[in-house]
Amino acid sequence: MDNKIRSVINASGKMSILGTSTVSDAVASGMVFGAQHFFVMEEYLLQLENYIAKTLNYDAAKIVASAASGIVTTTAAVIGRDDRSYTLNPFSHKTKRREIIIPKGHNVNFGAPIETMIEMAGGIVVEAGYANECTKDQIIAKINENTAGILYIKSHHTVQKNMLEIEDAVALAKEHGIPLIVDAAAEEDFEMYNTKDIDLLIFSGSKALEGPSSGILVGKETMIKWTKHVDKGIGRAMKVTKEMASGLLVALDARHEEKQVIDIEPYLSHLKDTVEAFITKDPAGREIYRLAIKTSPDKARSLIQNLEEGNPAIYTRNYQSNQGIVEFDTRALTPKDIEYIIHRIKENFHE
Ligand SMILES: *Cc1c(COP(=O)(O)O)cnc(C)c1O
Repeated sequence: MDNKIRSVINASGKMSILGTSTVSDAVASGMVFGAQHFFVMEEYLLQLENYIAKTLNYDAAKIVASAASGIVTTTAAVIGRDDRSYTLNPFSHKTKRREIIIPKGHNVNFGAPIETMIEMAGGIVVEAGYANECTKDQIIAKINENTAGILYIKSHHTVQKNMLEIEDAVALAKEHGIPLIVDAAAEEDFEMYNTKDIDLLIFSGSKALEGPSSGILVGKETMIKWTKHVDKGIGRAMKVTKEMASGLLVALDARHEEKQVIDIEPYLSHLKDTVEAFITKDPAGREIYRLAIKTSPDKARSLIQNLEEGNPAIYTRNYQSNQGIVEFDTRALTPKDIEYIIHRIKENFHE
């Protein structure tokens, strides 16, 4: 069987289609420890969650199976609140207040659609504003007695221009007494929001943290309590395992450790006789710099395909490929990988 499994060079970023992240030896050991022991699970998770809340300086925390399950769980929490029967039957007609307001430009597909996650918890998606515009007033216009919560997505996937800021969403949610959920799945700074008064905040454990598949919810005590009711109902299909939790904790403690960053500048000259090459900064403002090339859209498409079909397969970052730009995310690469990628690019253009 081994000889049929292709190896992959991941130059695309933290992508679920490639398995998101690889874990460090320390995180792997943490996972082994969790996997090889029994725990009183409720007690164990509570201890870890209290530690997470204290470490990141939020009121309370909950571990979830992934950021995607974090969206389902927080949606269920703001609809069901203290009513435990709701999480057993989220589609019951008993609950009328189930509308989740989301800026239209935030209703994106991150690999699966945000709206599908909301609907899984029995939420009704109410889009505010337009594809390229959402103001505070456009959100307020959608608020009514059936509004259960407001969901704000902080991500490179969303429309970045003409959208209300997180601070605006916090202020209006507070004014109207409606819970605000912020999905910050791929953000890198976990402490950045702890002064911002967000009711429920979602992070992925497998993206910036490079932990096992998992997620972290932080926020207000009462709302985190609501999210915990979910475990005994629909949350069971998104169960947190002991090896997930133990690995996540090691990854969290290692979050400030220097990651090895490759200086990509010198590689530009290797490509200069082949194709236009330059460095791009992450469009969502994170401190991530990527190697990029520009060619015609047709050549970009065929390069992407050729790289993916090889063995090892090379997966690139293709959000701008319709303009002929192919990006190479180097966070998971060794210098040898980069040299190999350059070799394959040259081969492709000189054929
Ligand atoms: C990746 C992502 C998710 C899902 O994260 P997982 O931990 O893989 O479930 C959710 N929302 C956004 C905005 C994302 O980028």
